Amino acid sequence: MNQTTPSTAQLYDLDLPALQSLLESWGEPAYRAHQLWEWLYLHLVDSFDQMTNLPKSLRERLASKTTIGAPRVADTVVSEDGETRKDLLQLTDGEAVEAVLMHYERRHTACISTQVGCLIGCAFCATGQMGFRRNLTGGEIVAQALHFARLLRPKQDRLSNVVLMGMGEPLLNYDATLAAIHRLTDPQGLNIGQRHITLSTVGIAPGIELLADEASHHGGSLQVTLAVSLHAATDQLRDQLIPMNRRYNLDALFKACHYYVQRTGRRVSFEWALIEGVNDTPQQAQALAARLAGISSHVNLIPLNPTTGYDGKPSSKEALDAFTKELDRRLISYTVRLRRGIDIQAGCGQLRQRNHP
Ligand code: SAH
Ligand code: SF4
Repeated sequence: MNQTTPSTAQLYDLDLPALQSLLESWGEPAYRAHQLWEWLYLHLVDSFDQMTNLPKSLRERLASKTTIGAPRVADTVVSEDGETRKDLLQLTDGEAVEAVLMHYERRHTACISTQVGCLIGCAFCATGQMGFRRNLTGGEIVAQALHFARLLRPKQDRLSNVVLMGMGEPLLNYDATLAAIHRLTDPQGLNIGQRHITLSTVGIAPGIELLADEASHHGGSLQVTLAVSLHAATDQLRDQLIPMNRRYNLDALFKACHYYVQRTGRRVSFEWALIEGVNDTPQQAQALAARLAGISSHVNLIPLNPTTGYDGKPSSKEALDAFTKELDRRLISYTVRLRRGIDIQAGCGQLRQRNHP
């Protein structure tokens, strides 16, 4: 099963019309594509043997000509409290990406990757430290969410949220990311609410504008949550932390964010990993508040996750308090995030770093 060459068609890469034309070209009746679709996205099976209402001959043909695209789990770590699980998922060409499943109250959230590695090279990021390998296909992005949905199924739980916050920059793999979002939100499939999907970007301004213009299944704008990895509110500091800032500086980035809010009516989230003595100063908090004036927004403050390639440290409690005091004074909406899964190194890129030193 799934022993295949990379050139074999992966079913998760095909939308329903493409499945239909594949099966029609094999002389199969039209309803077979719907049956196959249901096995893939409703019953979540990962082998052809389980597709019991398909004739054996068709199952054999599918098995010889295609692969489902369910990744192999190469490594798993579970946090001590059992609330976070991180898998290293092996793709058909031997590359591997990380995906994380987090349980929080009744929510089950998958954090999934869009690229193997990343070419942006943010100083503090383990994925950035490994460089860029390749884009994932839409099917490979979807497969990570389906993998966790399948694990949840025996417990009668369903995957409720997906965050595109794993390895890679989603807006530099735009078409595959959009195909994956449409597949994940398809009412005839996993049916994850658009508002329960978060796309995190380093701040590719033209990509944000494209996303703002994107339509959903039922008309209107696509309602996914946009999270922007800001981490610094002055160009001088952001240039150092995030090389992409030299291409799209804060003015260009905020122009795109304003456009996103205007087109979608949604507020934008801003991610801020607090690094001791670097971006946790009251001056940065003030600059942040000034940038956020007039934009519907929410800030997520995350303690830095230490990585081997960067010697920054997470901020102290005192620095965090001084930072949030400045935000409070300016009525900025924010949340201090927990260090979820810290004992399993749930920061993106860290498990792969361990397996591919
Ligand atoms: N490329 C996209 C999405 C993947 S990174 C982006 O940059 O937004 C997902 C999030 O993890 C980003 O907000 C990123 O800034 C953050 N991140 C990366 N390394 C981190 C670290 N060591 N500690 C805390 N957050 C980190
Ligand atoms: Fe790439 Fe995001 Fe990591 Fe920066 S933080 S290197 S954009 S994955």
